[in-house]
Amino acid sequence: MLIVGGGPAGSTCARFAAMHGLAAAVIERTGTSSPKRTSAGIFDHTWRALELSPRDYPHPMRSPNAAEFRTLNDGKELTTVFNVVVEKLNRHVYFPNRDEFDRWLLSLAEVSGAVVIRDSVVRPRHIEYDGELYHVKIGKSVHTAPILVGAAGTACPVYRRFFDDGGGWPGRTMYLNEIEVPQSEYRGSSYVSYFNFMNAGVFGWTYIVGDGWLHIGVAHMSNRPKIKKNDLLLEEFLGAVKAAGQLSPRFDPGKHHASGGSIRMFADRPMVANGASCFVIGDSAGVLQCDAYNGISNAILSGRLCVEAVAQGGGKPRIRERLNKYLFMDVLRDLFGARFPIRPGNSSFPTGSAGRVAREDR
Ligand SMILES: Cc1cc2nc3c(=O)[nH]c(=O)nc-3n(C[C@H](O)[C@H](O)[C@H](O)COP(=O)(O)OP(=O)(O)OC[C@H]3O[C@@H](n4cnc5c(N)ncnc54)[C@H](O)[C@@H]3O)c2cc1C
Repeated sequence: MLIVGGGPAGSTCARFAAMHGLAAAVIERTGTSSPKRTSAGIFDHTWRALELSPRDYPHPMRSPNAAEFRTLNDGKELTTVFNVVVEKLNRHVYFPNRDEFDRWLLSLAEVSGAVVIRDSVVRPRHIEYDGELYHVKIGKSVHTAPILVGAAGTACPVYRRFFDDGGGWPGRTMYLNEIEVPQSEYRGSSYVSYFNFMNAGVFGWTYIVGDGWLHIGVAHMSNRPKIKKNDLLLEEFLGAVKAAGQLSPRFDPGKHHASGGSIRMFADRPMVANGASCFVIGDSAGVLQCDAYNGISNAILSGRLCVEAVAQGGGKPRIRERLNKYLFMDVLRDLFGARFPIRPGNSSFPTGSAGRVAREDR
């Protein structure tokens, strides 16, 4: 099988395919694009889905315990929330450096026997299907396989070639924007989650990740097909964090690296095309539900389920029913109901003025 995109979904798909004795190759553009510098919260259930342990990981990771977290709602601390949630979820979180983590997963796929074709960008117009085989052209080479998997995130060329009906994305979209700041600029707690910041459905965070940098970010969901970067609320959130005395008075967001993007979600769409010979997984399939924390977990799980479907003879993977058993937001809503009103997708969004924060497509 040919897998386009070597993020968590693609590398997991390749590794488990190789473990099932299937010949797999991943085409990854890394090297042609800048390193991934977003945060990555990796939970116990993510490690289980990978069939790996945090002890296997060769790079530094932050591994906060519950006491290091502050969970805030509209500026008010919900002191009991996190402990209740931790008990209920019985999970632990690790924060590696995102780029190192993704590269490590891809190297494990290679060690397991998958071929990794690096520094190669796939374009939709360079993918052909002759009714039996897929032919993917990169430069002067053509790679051919009977199974094609799209795992290249929101702008996946496989999705665009075989799944996009021209009507736009049918589900919702989550927009995330983050800034990476040296820890020396920061005076706050190590891990703070801000729910319903400014509006229901807006979620902010300040987390220190494995390489010691602080990530400050905002996420929200929208039904709008397009959104301006001004609407991403990062500058407002940074202002609130600064006003709370957590950032140095000299802090200037324009000096720091910003990244972000949109993630498709909630799409009730087929993830299989061409008689179950072509799959989309991870963000390219919109498997994220209403919790950005689980983007990586769901991507990994969908990669595994795709391999199961191929190994069992091309059946349709029953992905949706098996995702999101661990949704953080859903658990909060179940526990706190009206006290914790999360209404994904229904927020009327104020326009912001995040003018100077550059957006970088992942
Ligand atoms: C700011 C931010 C913070 C986030 N924080 C978290 C978090 O803390 N926890 C969490 O679980 N999730 C988080 N997410 C969501 C998470 O990043 C995604 O859900 C997850 O990465 C999806 O994995 P994927 O493998 O489907 O796609 P991706 O990780 O996007 O991987 C796609 C891969 O395909 C490659 N690619 C893209 N186009 C091409 C092409 N044309 N040809 C070849 N290769 C290509 C890319 O280089 C990339 O390696 C965050 C997202 C953002 C934007």
